[in-house]
Amino acid sequence: CGITACLREEGSLEPILTGLKRLEYRGYDSAGIALQNGHGIGLVKRAGEVDRLCEQVEKGNLQGTVGIGHTRWSTHGPPTDANAHPHMDERGSVAVVHNGIIDNYSALKSHLQRRGHHFASDTDTEVIPHLIEEELENGASNDEAFRAAVDLLDGTYAIAAIFDDEHAIYATRMGSPLVFGEGDGEWYVASDVPAFVEYTNRVRYLHDGDFIRITTDGFELTDADGTAVDRPLETIDWDP
Ligand code: GLU
Repeated sequence: CGITACLREEGSLEPILTGLKRLEYRGYDSAGIALQNGHGIGLVKRAGEVDRLCEQVEKGNLQGTVGIGHTRWSTHGPPTDANAHPHMDERGSVAVVHNGIIDNYSALKSHLQRRGHHFASDTDTEVIPHLIEEELENGASNDEAFRAAVDLLDGTYAIAAIFDDEHAIYATRMGSPLVFGEGDGEWYVASDVPAFVEYTNRVRYLHDGDFIRITTDGFELTDADGTAVDRPLETIDWDP
């Protein structure tokens, strides 16, 4: 139900957890976070409250400069730890958070299972990391794999992903809100501005079909064909 993502040299754990707290008003039953630490992707996810997730995060050694977080409002599969987002592929190369519903997930899941993929959850969302994994195994770049997987989806979605081998956030939307926040050398993506407004008030609202790739060098905003699109930079007047 809520997405928050951050790329920040000082570390992204704190802004992502703050973002999840700020998104609680939207309602949720589970929460989770994934961070890339230069060696791989660390993941903590739990049914229940964000506070419970925070306790779990404190026990672990989760850190990284790029990451994604999610508050889940279950549509496919009960609110369990396994069904909480982020969801990963079997190689651990990508972590994905998703808001919305993938209408054709059942056909995609059967296809993937026939190709040997094992699913760890009951969610519609989990087809996305497996589809990305398929593309990566066929030699696609992260960018190509993300786009190709999204191209196979029918339904409504806001999606954010991180990869184990790249310092980047990928995100896209169709029928679910997604907003991009630009700070000074730090970048945010979220379902709604309150997730990051204490870090930056400079935002661009993404449109349906937009893709964004954020790295330390900046961001690329494109349509589904990879053509650059321009979304106006707005300054939010906000009194948190
Ligand atoms: N359909 C997905 C699920 O059930 C995402 C739900 C949401 O938007 O939080 O896990």
